[in-house]
Amino acid sequence: AALDRIAKVDDAVHAFLHVDVEGALATAAGVDTRRAAGEQLGPLAGVPLALKDVLTAKGQPTTCGSRILEGWYPPYDATVTARLRAADVVILGKANMDEFAMGSSTENSAYGATRNPWDLSRIPGGSSGGSSAAVAAFEAPLAIGTDTGGSIRQPAAVCGLVGVKPTYGGVSRYGLVAFSSSLDQAGPLARTVTDAALLHAAIAGHDPCDSTSVDRPVPPVVEAAVRREVRGLRIGVVRELSGDGYEPGVQARFDEAVALLAELGAEIVEVSCPHFDYALAAYYLIAPSECSSNLARFDAMRFGLRLGDDGLAGAEEVMSRTRAAGFGPEVKRRIILGTYALSSGYYDAYYGQAQKVRTLISRDFTAAFEQVDVLVSPTTPTVAFPIGAKVDDPIAMYLNDLCTIPANLAGVPAMSVPAGLSDGLPVGFQIMAPAFADERLYEVGGALE
Ligand code: GLN
Repeated sequence: AALDRIAKVDDAVHAFLHVDVEGALATAAGVDTRRAAGEQLGPLAGVPLALKDVLTAKGQPTTCGSRILEGWYPPYDATVTARLRAADVVILGKANMDEFAMGSSTENSAYGATRNPWDLSRIPGGSSGGSSAAVAAFEAPLAIGTDTGGSIRQPAAVCGLVGVKPTYGGVSRYGLVAFSSSLDQAGPLARTVTDAALLHAAIAGHDPCDSTSVDRPVPPVVEAAVRREVRGLRIGVVRELSGDGYEPGVQARFDEAVALLAELGAEIVEVSCPHFDYALAAYYLIAPSECSSNLARFDAMRFGLRLGDDGLAGAEEVMSRTRAAGFGPEVKRRIILGTYALSSGYYDAYYGQAQKVRTLISRDFTAAFEQVDVLVSPTTPTVAFPIGAKVDDPIAMYLNDLCTIPANLAGVPAMSVPAGLSDGLPVGFQIMAPAFADERLYEVGGALE
């Protein structure tokens, strides 16, 4: 049914870069056979899923939405992919994304933009816009996204879905092509809080192949999603994440959700996180700095595209021709910015300062979580905007991530849950919890559902 739906609507939505028809049917048939034989099946047996094209899956191409990886078939599965297979998930294919996960609209994909199923003239969010659109268009009930500065939560918000960025270190990054290694984290996109919890539990847990993976038990997310109890919980509304720039419809849905939580027995407190105002500026130094280093591996020798190798050109020339043609404008902008910020003489002024701001933001979270159990805010200042509206204005595009970036900088878990509509378009409600207390997101998100 999922493959039929993809065949019917994906020309219009363009959520997928690659559909693995044969592989999906073979996995599904295998699950059926084992079920008939009375074998023990994985927790998500037979459930179809869209995998963001930044995670490797053996037998399928991985492009990261970039020309530079065109035609590259990874020789191994990401740990997330391996765990999906172990859970007997049916991987339908690879979902479109902003090139190397840099963007908020999926317009930066080298393979064309994805459209928002709620209104095909609007963006599905980004960078995991293929993943969010696939679920919103009923092409798949589940999807995996990655979130470096909001790329799971913002697409979830503008497509009316549940999206979760787990605690940094909670889900393995092995086989997740790195954008900004100290921020990247994979997580679930789903239609309900319980679906998201089931997927979260399937992919989380320690992995010796990722040195930043934390050796702790997986938080009890499924239990929390089922219990969904907020009585007695202290919920902090972040003062800095409201006001100018927030659409009235977004603010209204947020206020209603907070009122509902109070009605359900939560105690609502206003909390100030004064350094959140600097989060966007710090992020746009740290993320490009790490990206400039991470993307150095695309050197025309090791992966994918190789241009201008006529047997006479030197390695540097081949590298330069390949990178000039293989990377899109946003990726180049970030590499240049990051290289500048890391260069000798500027390092302390930019990168060093940004890291100090990052520490102050972490301290804001620590202080806030001494007063409250979770923090809440709108997920995005606006609903989905029209395709093309912000492509020529990087700063306007970056402002989409105002509310989501603090959680990445501090490594804490955060969720976006649907909070109703504004002018017929979905609005997201963000919940943030202390590191390794991911289950609190599901308690609160579940209560709002
Ligand atoms: N939109 C942000 C950026 O462009 C976040 C991207 C992400 O989370 N991958 O960097």
